[in-house]
Amino acid sequence: MRITRNLITGGAGFLGSHLTDRLMNAGEEVICLDNYFTGRKSNIAQWIGHPRFELIRHDVTEPIRLEVDRIWHLACPASPVHYQFNPIKTAKTSFLGTYNMLGLARRVGARLLLASTSEVYGDPEVHPQPESYRGCVNTIGIRSCYDEGKRIAETLCFDYQRMHGTEIRVMRIFNTYGPRMLPDDGRVVSNFIVQALQGQPLTLYGDGSQTRSFCYVDDLIEGMIRLMNGNHTGPINIGNPGEFTIRQLAELVRDRINPKLELITKPLPQDDPLQRQPIIDLARKELGWEPKIALQDGLQPTIDWFKQSLSKG
Ligand code: NAD
Ligand code: UDP
Repeated sequence: MRITRNLITGGAGFLGSHLTDRLMNAGEEVICLDNYFTGRKSNIAQWIGHPRFELIRHDVTEPIRLEVDRIWHLACPASPVHYQFNPIKTAKTSFLGTYNMLGLARRVGARLLLASTSEVYGDPEVHPQPESYRGCVNTIGIRSCYDEGKRIAETLCFDYQRMHGTEIRVMRIFNTYGPRMLPDDGRVVSNFIVQALQGQPLTLYGDGSQTRSFCYVDDLIEGMIRLMNGNHTGPINIGNPGEFTIRQLAELVRDRINPKLELITKPLPQDDPLQRQPIIDLARKELGWEPKIALQDGLQPTIDWFKQSLSKG
């Protein structure tokens, strides 16, 4: 049988590079496409020169012609600091990027998986969130470029399926953490770990009572692979239902690294969702998937990785 040819957009990023590892280790071909906005060559350096691996510098807002079987469409900055850096570009990446990748999927008959997000639920009025919840998103706020970008990306997927029969898979990813997050990407897990390792106070935005549910990267990638390989189109929530306040997370990280550190408060950013927790019944039923790694267990390998990465400078 011919080896599966995978295109991973955003393949040099946090999730994309872990997916690259999984597919390369499974003996498949991987084309990693990235514009290196938030991705790093060091994340995929272990595969450069491998006969089944190719690296392409490209921006998904421009079309590209390639022959592939599967498109894992992850290209898009994910941390608020990065996606708000140039919000117009973020919206273009979500809309034009997904449009270009769906065009490619249609032309070559590839199956496309979209890395969508729990942000499509906005600041949810329904808690926890099932896939049937339609969300509460501000169309004109500072998070809208990302939230609305992903919503239109989902719409495009389903219209390509209805109009052209394109095979799609739509995954709503909840907050994910692990090795290879950028130390300066502003996300809460990386911020707290880096602050604690540097002996600085941990910064709670607001009073820290807002909640998130954190999924370890290995669990997330397993869910992604099952979704791509299975028959269910989605949208499907993939995340860890273990819900924590941001204050609880800060205490967990502080107590692991240096219990003497202070927790300080800073203003809550505009439109910051108050609560977020996935209902994963659909993933359990359709993919036989559920997370295996609790936050308490996933934090240590993440802390160890940051320690090593910061010591290299
Ligand atoms: P990341 O920022 O580490 O990775 C994104 C990658 O896409 C980077 O390598 C970046 O350089 C690349 N990229 C960005 N814009 C591009 C463009 N125009 N053309 C080509 N490449 C481009 O983020 P991540 O955490 O790995 O997220 C991957 C995907 O998963 C994103 O689509 C994100 O929206 C989605 N997601 C992630 C999370 C999470 O918690 N990590 C949660 C929900 C959704
Ligand atoms: N947050 C915080 N301190 C930080 C970084 C983030 O309290 O140093 C909060 C942020 O306001 C949000 C939560 O942590 O309520 C998760 O933020 P993140 O940017 O990781 O993800 P998202 O808001 O996109 O879910």
